[in-house]
Amino acid sequence: MNVRVSSVTSAERLVTRMPLIDTFGRAVTYLRVSVTDRCDFRCVYCMAEHMTFLPKPELLTLEELDRLCSAFVVRGVKKLRLTGGEPLVRRDVMTLFRSLSRHLDSGALEELTLTTNGSQLARFAGDLAACGVKRINVSLDTLDPAKFRALTRWGDLSKVLAGIDAAQNAGIHVKLNAVALAGNEAEIPALIEWAHGRGMDVSLIEVMPLGETGAERLDQYLPLSTVRARLAERWTLEDIPFRTGGPARYVSIKETGGRLGFITPLTHNFCEGCNRVRVTCTGTLYMCLGQDDAADLRTPLRASESDETLHTALDDAIFRKPKGHDFVIDRPGRPPALRRHMSVTGG
Ligand code: SAM
Ligand code: SF4
Repeated sequence: MNVRVSSVTSAERLVTRMPLIDTFGRAVTYLRVSVTDRCDFRCVYCMAEHMTFLPKPELLTLEELDRLCSAFVVRGVKKLRLTGGEPLVRRDVMTLFRSLSRHLDSGALEELTLTTNGSQLARFAGDLAACGVKRINVSLDTLDPAKFRALTRWGDLSKVLAGIDAAQNAGIHVKLNAVALAGNEAEIPALIEWAHGRGMDVSLIEVMPLGETGAERLDQYLPLSTVRARLAERWTLEDIPFRTGGPARYVSIKETGGRLGFITPLTHNFCEGCNRVRVTCTGTLYMCLGQDDAADLRTPLRASESDETLHTALDDAIFRKPKGHDFVIDRPGRPPALRRHMSVTGG
């Protein structure tokens, strides 16, 4: 395949462009790209067991994904996260990582990272480290193999744990993401203790009403305000200003010596400082995770080999970035706030 591998192209070097700043004065410096809608798990809060995935021609090719990400880098994106679906099940995805790493070499990009379920990490950790990936997020909700299988429907905990070992051995910093679920609250302290014992931060995420999964959201929803209050009965939590560029607010836990993040789209709206946008694997740009407005970037990308139309489309889209979202989970049977699944826009 024909992806540029190491050096920044002359077009990228020569063109200086305006940064992407929305009408609320927020600079877009963080791009999350879903490189596939497919996954080897079927987590109960994320997907239905039987999913219909997109036909291949609808997906951006790896070359197109590279072009798109590079256009954002030219416009001031400093942090790029590949996600999915499961990014490591996309065929040849390492070619994309290798090609994007040229922006790390040039200094245009500060961080190239991914969010993964960890199932394929044992295979790819060394390659990721070689591409300059220094920190990754691994999603893990429980250390109990049977519960893990039930939550992911198809997952094998031992593979994920081997993947985390491989990443840490390759020198990659691992942060755990765990979705706080009503049926899973008892697991949370053990997961935190285990992670902190291995030098990993943990972020807890409130379940968001995205897509039909065949499960009732109100049964799954566990407010992080409740989790925090219960953890505070067990441990000493101290608010700290630590930030990773994402929406998590952190505390340090005195007894474990580690950091714990809270991502609270429902109990605390975090939109005012939002620096992020998301692109799907079909090249649809969502200016907000929680709103339906979107911009098609695939058409301008495919319309011309030059990036001019693409940059115009980016300007138009960022101009429309909304102030925030308004998720609510308050009554049984409420339909999802948005019909698309989290695996479409990526976490
Ligand atoms: N497959 C990868 C993984 O699981 O890490 C990357 C994609 S996944 C959609 C990204 C993150 O979104 C995961 O941490 C997952 O737990 C979280 N997630 C999925 N559905 C969610 C939902 N409805 N509410 C909150 N978080 C969700
Ligand atoms: Fe797959 Fe990640 Fe969604 Fe789980 S959360 S089904 S691993 S995309």
